[in-house]
Amino acid sequence: MSAIRIPGYVAEVLRELERMGYRAYAVGGCVRDSLLGSEPADWDVCTDAKPEDMLQVFRKWRVFKTGLKHGTVTVRSRGRNVEVTTFRTDGAYSDNRHPDAVHFVSNIRDDLARRDFTINAMAYNDREGLVDVFGGQEDLEGRMIRCVGEPDVRFNEDGLRILRALRFSARFKFAIETETAYSIRRNRLLLENISAERIYKELQGILPAEGAGDMLIAFPEVFAVILPELSALAGSLDVDGMDRWEFAARAVQTAPTGDFPLRLTMLLHLLPSLAVRSALSRLKSDNATARFVTVLSDHLSLPLPATRPEMRRLIGSVSQTMAEHIIVSRGRLNALRHQSPEEARSAMRLFAEVLDSPPAFTARDLAIGGTELMEHGLAHGPRVGRILDQLLREVQDETLPNAQESLLSRAAELPQE
Ligand code: ATP
Ligand code: MG
Repeated sequence: MSAIRIPGYVAEVLRELERMGYRAYAVGGCVRDSLLGSEPADWDVCTDAKPEDMLQVFRKWRVFKTGLKHGTVTVRSRGRNVEVTTFRTDGAYSDNRHPDAVHFVSNIRDDLARRDFTINAMAYNDREGLVDVFGGQEDLEGRMIRCVGEPDVRFNEDGLRILRALRFSARFKFAIETETAYSIRRNRLLLENISAERIYKELQGILPAEGAGDMLIAFPEVFAVILPELSALAGSLDVDGMDRWEFAARAVQTAPTGDFPLRLTMLLHLLPSLAVRSALSRLKSDNATARFVTVLSDHLSLPLPATRPEMRRLIGSVSQTMAEHIIVSRGRLNALRHQSPEEARSAMRLFAEVLDSPPAFTARDLAIGGTELMEHGLAHGPRVGRILDQLLREVQDETLPNAQESLLSRAAELPQE
């Protein structure tokens, strides 16, 4: 295990609390990540100072009362934010979502006991060293996600912990301890009570993670609760005799880690277009992601363009970046099906050729526009658009040069309807 080095701006916050007679520790994710030898993204502090005491201690600092009711303030230290939270227990969760009330407590053990997993339930300061009462360090060494306390109780308090367990397991490639894993399966329907926003946020953590594919394969019944559209895939075989759920999971794994929209597409790409749309809207996905996923997944079931004209039309209809995603992703899926790499390779060659030649992707790329057509008395009204579309098709087909003169004379030949 690596040593914990508290950065100066956090140490100052701890020191200030201690100077005023309170106890204070770095806690949770930052302790876990430090022990794992990686740089924590942010540092959280917990303390026995009550909210009003914290405001007193930090009265000369910039402080934001981010969650005062729950005992949290954000303290600005050397230009960085540190969240400081009073030791607390969370009380009952009658709606499986929010604690009905938080109770401030005076010792660190009770605060650690409310936390979800042993690896997230450790605290540290330089004076006392590591405070690890639930075996967090041992589970880090054994690469294990284990609930603090009784798994059934903990998941019933907050169903989102089910997805948090999968997220940490996928991120660190840790196993989920047997009792915790049973409990996750048994209690999966608790996820029906969790808001779409919180679920989507966890998915944004699970899918890009290193171990996402294994997680999907190990817990299909859990994902079926949050993405019921996918439940039809598990246990159904495709033409090659491959389990379709497993294929989707392995497809996720072929996309680069960290790329959520691409991995979400891979997960959903076997579903009919309408099911993809309904899943995205139920999850309240942001618009940019929803657009990306629907366009890409719609195209992944089609053969790739096999000629330059088809390639130009594809780029014209979905954009250059998107066309590239379609080719690359389709290539990955072909490889997963043990199909020849030739389809994607030759599409990539066409893509490069088409980008190398003068652009003819949309009517805007033509050497003439509607104005010229009208000036030459060749068209007016809605016919302008129809003629431009026809000219574009012929330019894309390479049967007509994209030059003013040839376009105008071809337009003159087109039938007047
Ligand atoms: P990350 O690196 O993903 O931020 P983290 O461990 O810091 O991981 P946070 O969601 O930022 O996770 O929460 C900080 C700490 O608060 C956790 O380490 C854990 O101790 C506690 N915690 C957060 N959410 C829950 C929850 N739903 N139930 C119990 N404890 C929680
Ligand atoms: Mg965190």
